[in-house]
Amino acid sequence: MDEVETWLRQWERRLGTGMADPVVQANVGMFRPRRVVGTLCPDDVEQVRAIVGSVVKGVTLYPLSTGHNWGLGSREPVRDGAVVLDLRRLDRVRLLDLDLGVAVVEPGVTQGRLAGLLSDSSYMLNVTASSAHTSIVGNALERGVGLRRQRCEDVAGMEVVLADGRLIRLGNWPDEEGRVVPYGHEVGPALMPLFAQSNLGVVTAAVIRLLPRPRALHLVRLTFDASRLATVVDELRDCHGQRLISGVLKIYQPPESEECVAYCCVDGDPELAALSCALLMRRVERTRLFDDVHDYVGDEQLPGQLRRCLSGDPSWNELVLENWFGTSSRGIDANPGNGYLFFLPLLPFQGAAVARARALVREVCAETGTQWRATVNAISCDVIDLVVSCLFPKAMAAQAHRALDLLHRRFADCGWRPYRLDVDHMSAGGPPDVLRRLKEVFDPRNVLAPGRYEPP
Ligand SMILES: Cc1cc2nc3c(=O)[nH]c(=O)nc-3n(C[C@H](O)[C@H](O)[C@H](O)COP(=O)(O)OP(=O)(O)OC[C@H]3O[C@@H](n4cnc5c(N)ncnc54)[C@H](O)[C@@H]3O)c2cc1C
Repeated sequence: MDEVETWLRQWERRLGTGMADPVVQANVGMFRPRRVVGTLCPDDVEQVRAIVGSVVKGVTLYPLSTGHNWGLGSREPVRDGAVVLDLRRLDRVRLLDLDLGVAVVEPGVTQGRLAGLLSDSSYMLNVTASSAHTSIVGNALERGVGLRRQRCEDVAGMEVVLADGRLIRLGNWPDEEGRVVPYGHEVGPALMPLFAQSNLGVVTAAVIRLLPRPRALHLVRLTFDASRLATVVDELRDCHGQRLISGVLKIYQPPESEECVAYCCVDGDPELAALSCALLMRRVERTRLFDDVHDYVGDEQLPGQLRRCLSGDPSWNELVLENWFGTSSRGIDANPGNGYLFFLPLLPFQGAAVARARALVREVCAETGTQWRATVNAISCDVIDLVVSCLFPKAMAAQAHRALDLLHRRFADCGWRPYRLDVDHMSAGGPPDVLRRLKEVFDPRNVLAPGRYEPP
């Protein structure tokens, strides 16, 4: 037995393998499976520190929270030969302050669990459209996108185990009496962002800012023909900028039809929300761009799911996953039927850009015989996260991955880069020499997640 194996076996004996949910070495994206030499599931932060601090030469660790990074690699490390450091058992909600609207959660705390704890309160969690069983910390570290805003905006503090086993706390962290100001910056140079989309540390907890729960919520559904996409995007940008729309504006462009649908959230105090909703509807009706304008109150699957997510409830998300993969979130990676991929470029919030992006996606579909759908997620009044996704029969994996490579190239040619990357396309965008020097400072032995968001 070599030194690496001896180290691993010792830790496996110490921690036990007793995972309620055994690890499946498969990924729904059908990326090349990486060679994983073992999986360690620590129970608490002290064990994480001891593992990280004790690694012997040749060990690399790939930390993950719940490992549901579907469409981007799931649990696969970027490089071969890693020990996966699975943090799902770190699942304590360390603090929940419902006066202030702040929670301190560990990586194994799922969005469904925290949302449940908030259900009767005046606060809600910014939830994503992914499964209720996904991690708040894992998603925030990828700068994932919730229905209200980008998840990194929810983070006000971070607890990090460094590569030498030291524990540091960044941003704003509660004192012994639980007092905290949920402000997401330190005084002086900001260190907390260095640990998102990086491989500089293992995050063992985060301070999460909750959102005041709106007392009224309208979901305005606008239906229009794809030929008007550019004009509609510009019109809705102005509505967003004038605060007639809150949260993340969504525009769905189903590949099988020319009918697009925008969902606009209008919420807040009931009287104000009713007035804003009436104003928004009057305004968009006057444009004559839309075939149907509706203050939607029904419970069809998609708007029903959106309405719940906008109210901080991810419980309907599981239905979508079950429809697509014929299984609950546990079985998605190993499901026999369908694969799934994401390409996530950022665009300026401009109609011409969205229309051009739609044309690019269609060209790639035609060239590769695959079907990708592009959904506009306007995450601010100036930026769109275009969610380009492909649900494909597993027999079409090669074509789907060829399409993914083409999308990366074609969008890059237009100057549009993804905000977040899959395991086959990992390369950080910052100055390579600075990034390399940071890695040397934080992790000189290159133990943590080699290849993850590193310079090319
Ligand atoms: C139908 C569908 C809808 C989806 N909708 C959304 C959506 O609305 N928004 C969205 O953002 N995503 C969405 N996703 C993608 C994905 O499922 C989520 O982003 C999910 O939250 C990621 O998985 P996770 O939370 O288990 O994170 P993990 O897989 O645990 O973490 C992601 C990565 O972050 C790093 N990491 C995680 N934890 C740590 C840590 N503690 N320390 C250091 N590094 C760490 C690791 O490199 C890991 O690979 C969707 C997927 C599907 C299939």
